[in-house]
Order: sequence, then C-alpha cells, then structure tokens
Amino acid sequence: MLMNEEQSHSTPQECIDKLNLIELHIRELVSTINSGQFADVRQRIAQLQNTTNQFKTDVQRLPDIKRSIPQQNKEIELLKNQIQKQLAGVQVANVKTELLLKETDKSTMASEDNNTAPLVNEQSLRCLHCDSLILTKGIGKIHDDLSFDVPLPRQKKDFTVAEKEKLTLFCSVDRVHDFDNVGVTRSHEGIVYLACADCEIGPVGLQDKDSGKYLIAIERVKLA
Ligand SMILES: [Zn+2]
Repeated sequence: MLMNEEQSHSTPQECIDKLNLIELHIRELVSTINSGQFADVRQRIAQLQNTTNQFKTDVQRLPDIKRSIPQQNKEIELLKNQIQKQLAGVQVANVKTELLLKETDKSTMASEDNNTAPLVNEQSLRCLHCDSLILTKGIGKIHDDLSFDVPLPRQKKDFTVAEKEKLTLFCSVDRVHDFDNVGVTRSHEGIVYLACADCEIGPVGLQDKDSGKYLIAIERVKLA
C-alpha cells in the first residue's frame, strides 16, 4: 500500500531529468532540420511532444503541487488549532494541579489564616490570537466547580449560530471593568459572552447568570 502510494508521486529529480530530455530532443529536432532530413522531422516532433507530456505528468505528480494555497492554508490552520488545543489542555492541567496543591495545603495545615482564600490567576490572561491583555495577574479567582457549554471560538458576529463545547475551568471577576480589555456581547439565548476587545475573537468566556460573575475560560486564553 505505502509503496504504491510513494510510487504514485514523482520527485523533483525526475522532473529535471525530463527537462533535460526535452532539451536533448529539441537539439535533435534542430539538427534534423539543419541536416535536411525532413522525413525524420515529424518523428522528432512526436518524440518532443511525448517527452513534454511526460514532464507535465511528473510535475503534476509532485507531492502537494496540485493543492491550492487556500487548501494548504486551511490545513495549516487545522494543525495550528490542534496544537492550540493541546497547549490549552496543558494549561488547564497546570491550573488544576495548582488548585489540587492548594486543596492539599488546606487539608494538611492546621492554621486558618489565608488557607481559605481562593486561588487567584498567578499569570495574566491574554488573547490567544492578538496577545491583547484581558486580565492582569492576581485579579481573578480560579474555579473548577463550574460547567458551561460555550460556543466554539469564532468571530463575534457568528456567536448566535455556534456549536458548543463544555468548559469547566474558569477565572472569575465580579465586574466587567476588573478586566483590562474585554468585549461584551449578548447572544440570542440571552447569555452574555466575552470576547477579546481588540480582535473580537471569542467567546473567551461568559457571565454566570446565577452569580453575575464574569468568567474567562482558561482554555480560551493564554496564561503569560
Ligand atoms: Zn485578541
């Protein structure tokens, strides 16, 4: 299978070889004409056409040559999204570990002071796309006991038709102006979503209707 697949592709060297052959056949054609052997000209031209067609086929069989730039960009975009998804997963795991360590501290330490304070964002929250600062470090509180279905990230104008995913790790603030930079938008379902104020890509979070708090999904931002 694999070998057949490899054989269905040509190499740049094969293309160069065909070009050299075309050059040779042109020289042969010219010398045939020059020598007055007109009977052979037709055959020489056919030979040249044949080689040219082979060259064309080889070029088309070069890996990737037939894919358009938009197609390739789309594939790069998909790869970038996959990498982003994995980085977000690592980020979530790190924050969950911090939470867990804090819980462990709470249960093992007898002292009451400060131990009940919630975990704050130890790094600032930035937009994944334009790096704009969304929340300064130490301002928000980390929650892993909430769960919201949040539309997949896209432009603000498309929020209403979005497919959703369940997110469970958030950083909250009480007021919109606790953020450095955030755009607020209301969906047709009456839910307030948050987007980057600069590039408008989101949602990066939402407002919890029950508590009124504004939540940024850790998966949707960069901790830096
Ligand atoms: Zn942005």
